[in-house]
Amino acid sequence: MLHLQHYKKLGIGDIFHKVEENTRLEMDDGLRLYQCPDVVAVGALADRVRRRRHGNAAYYVLNQHINYSNICVNGCRFCAFHRKAGEQGAFELSLEDVLQKLSERPRGSIREVHIVGGCHPALPLTYFEDMIRGVKASRPEVHVKAFTAVEIDHFAHLEGTSTRDVLARLHKAGVDMLPGGGAEIFSPRIRTILCPEKLDGEKWLKINGEAHELGMKTNATMLYGHLETEGERLEHLLALRELQDRTGGFTCFIPLPFQPCNTPLANTPLASTRLGRTQPATGVEDLKTIAVSRLMLDNFSHIKAYWVMLTLKLAQVALHFGADDLDGTIVEEKIGHMAGAQSEQALTREELKRVIEEGGFTPLERDCLFNPVNPAEPLSATGTEN
Ligand code: SF4
Repeated sequence: MLHLQHYKKLGIGDIFHKVEENTRLEMDDGLRLYQCPDVVAVGALADRVRRRRHGNAAYYVLNQHINYSNICVNGCRFCAFHRKAGEQGAFELSLEDVLQKLSERPRGSIREVHIVGGCHPALPLTYFEDMIRGVKASRPEVHVKAFTAVEIDHFAHLEGTSTRDVLARLHKAGVDMLPGGGAEIFSPRIRTILCPEKLDGEKWLKINGEAHELGMKTNATMLYGHLETEGERLEHLLALRELQDRTGGFTCFIPLPFQPCNTPLANTPLASTRLGRTQPATGVEDLKTIAVSRLMLDNFSHIKAYWVMLTLKLAQVALHFGADDLDGTIVEEKIGHMAGAQSEQALTREELKRVIEEGGFTPLERDCLFNPVNPAEPLSATGTEN
């Protein structure tokens, strides 16, 4: 139960009214929510919005992650995943390896395959087209979510063509959707420090807009808890909201807490937030960021509590702070775990359902595009086994 008097005492009675009246929040509102000392009060506002959209449902998906390579021409300072070619720990999968990973999963056990990798210096676009065609032939019943805007930009450079052309070719090969990675924080100030080789925020948005125009849905992320300010987080959210107003092509927003372990930032004070802290985000800041995201992104249907980065326990709690999705079974997670993620590598459907139910929500299995699916219904199995 939300009490106006309490919000007035906190100095955010006007935001309470805006949420009640479904009025769009602005930058200053977001800053004040971040500065509010009562995270439960902020979370209750976000929960109000979340329940208006999704009632008591909390989504999950049966999915599998496949990383084709961690060899990358870039050297983002927050990344523990990438390696240079020949460096210890570098890997690169052949097309056969990718299909082998898929075939290790029993048919009918996944509805989504999520494929990303580093910006490899040499793999041609035909490698990726063949990969996606192979995946679709092997598992015609699954949706393919593959290649961030960063990879699309890189493929276009290597191929000497436009990002729109790359997107169209990959869409034709079978990519249904782009994952939301690579957005990091759009702030040019931060990108210059942390990932100067990577495409800038404007280009990330442009590529996602192009994907939307081609009929592809995409997700969006925000990496927080490194050197950015709360204002820069809010600028990031508002830039996403603005593109979503124009295209409507984003499905889900995923705030990702930075994991410093094994990155060049591991021993760097992370000190430029309002709190002046020198350590990564704590649980309260994670929950507040989920809640503020839910409240600011009024045109996004879904907010994901990505259990790999948050831990499963905090992701469960985040369902009460504005999140409505827990992601999925994953099967094999490399990116977060190479950066020290403490969560499990994979979950079963039963584990996900239990976490959702014990959190007080009703589990709703979904596909990649958030269409509800009936778990009792076997997936169609029209493809050929590898
Ligand atoms: S974040 Fe992506 S682009 Fe940056 S170094 Fe890591 S793999 Fe490469």
